[in-house]
Amino acid sequence: MADKKKKFYITTAIDYVNASPHLGHAYEKIAADCIARWHKLLGEDVFFLTGTDENAQKNVKAAKKAKIAIKQFVDSNAKLFIKLCKKLQISNDDFIRTIEERHKKVAQQIFELLHKKDLIYKGNYEGLYCTGCEAFKTEKELVTGKCPEHPNLQLELLKEEAYFFKLSLYQDRITQLLEKKYFVVPEAKRKEMLSRIKEQGLKDLCVSRKNLKWGIPVPFDKEHTIYVWIDALTNYISALEYPKGKYKKYWPADVHVIGKDINWFHSVIWPSLLIAADIEIPKTILVHGFINIKGEKISKTTGLVIDPFSITESYGVDSFRYFLLREIPFGQDGDFNEKALVARHNNELADKLGNLVSRTAGLTEKQNTKVKQVKQGQANKTLFKKLKLKEIQKHMQDYELDKALHKIFDFIDDCNAYIQEKKPWQEKDKEKLNNILYSVSDSTRIIAILLWPFIPETAEKIAKQFEFEIKSFDDCKPSLLKLSKIKKAPILFKKIGLEDGLKKATKSGELKKGLRKGL
Ligand SMILES: [Zn+2]
Repeated sequence: MADKKKKFYITTAIDYVNASPHLGHAYEKIAADCIARWHKLLGEDVFFLTGTDENAQKNVKAAKKAKIAIKQFVDSNAKLFIKLCKKLQISNDDFIRTIEERHKKVAQQIFELLHKKDLIYKGNYEGLYCTGCEAFKTEKELVTGKCPEHPNLQLELLKEEAYFFKLSLYQDRITQLLEKKYFVVPEAKRKEMLSRIKEQGLKDLCVSRKNLKWGIPVPFDKEHTIYVWIDALTNYISALEYPKGKYKKYWPADVHVIGKDINWFHSVIWPSLLIAADIEIPKTILVHGFINIKGEKISKTTGLVIDPFSITESYGVDSFRYFLLREIPFGQDGDFNEKALVARHNNELADKLGNLVSRTAGLTEKQNTKVKQVKQGQANKTLFKKLKLKEIQKHMQDYELDKALHKIFDFIDDCNAYIQEKKPWQEKDKEKLNNILYSVSDSTRIIAILLWPFIPETAEKIAKQFEFEIKSFDDCKPSLLKLSKIKKAPILFKKIGLEDGLKKATKSGELKKGLRKGL
């Protein structure tokens, strides 16, 4: 039988491995993971890709500074990114490293294809180059002669023979594309690109560098290396075994999750390259904001970084995931603040969710022998009506992850209030008691399903305790649970004293300057 499942291909950006992962990397992966898991719940055939960008000159510079051979340097740092994915329970199906053969082959293939189509030509490039961005900068982009993203890096004046991609040919096509509503989300980020393209126009793009030892060689001209964007961007198709294999099933990407600093490359350059190569363009570029720490931008250059490993050690993976997804309105910049994390852990995860689960399990277990399964359609009516399932679905569809989470927690509040109001511990009428307990336990089951994309570990603990499986969004309807199987279990979230948490995190490396080699 033919597989009729709808496919869903989601990617994160690939990360430079010039230093160990920071909070921004963790946030992007967590957000993408939440979306990927949601689509799994919807029954779709999800393919989720993340990886590392290892050919960039940035990495070479960092390796030199650390006095480590480049290959060894990228290998050991790439491992940290892979480790981070595991630590954060990221459900990626593949992890691509751009030094892998499977990637090199495809990057070269695309370069050659565009050259054959006469869309890549040889010329001369002269300009100011920022090694931080790995990009030439126009005068217009500079702030007091410096790159605004890397004010403490010296710009280099480079003049060299280079290959150019005829990006200018695609101005009209890309403008039309950006006029379409959902190509770039959120709206403000789409409009930003649209006005930039109208203001600056599209010039041909330098796509090679000369005389570099590290990187993917231009297949027909070994003096040249494929310049970072044709190399990096093609990871999205090389991991799918373009032009065969998984590519046939999963391309085009449904969502590329990226940071706002690389929006231009993904919503202007990438679709131009794809159109030029006669490849379908991705459906949505989903742009998240930056996370600041106490109001300042995270930067490896200034050393203001938070180590996501130590935060996870101190607070637990789900508290960290929950905080980032709940606190930051998706698409906007947010602030990371450990006090706020501790407050959300205590007030929301422990007091609301944890409390609901332990009360429900406790009360139900106590009544174990007396409780019977309520017939379909008889239970949960009052309580279930309070669940805004359609709204949650709509928020997720619009990538408003924080709002969806907010709605789920509103329902948790409703459930706690329901217990408080019905006082099952005082209820003498067996049938009434049965119905109350059934309502809250079954609602808890539904809550766990809905929370799985956000806090998978916790959701799975609840599922185990209540003896059901998290399988499908379709199971978010009443009356499926056998009450007699619910057992008491250790509490889900222990409260954290602010002092304890902060001390622990600081000890294990928070805000340490020059955390690891290469900073
Ligand atoms: Zn820069």
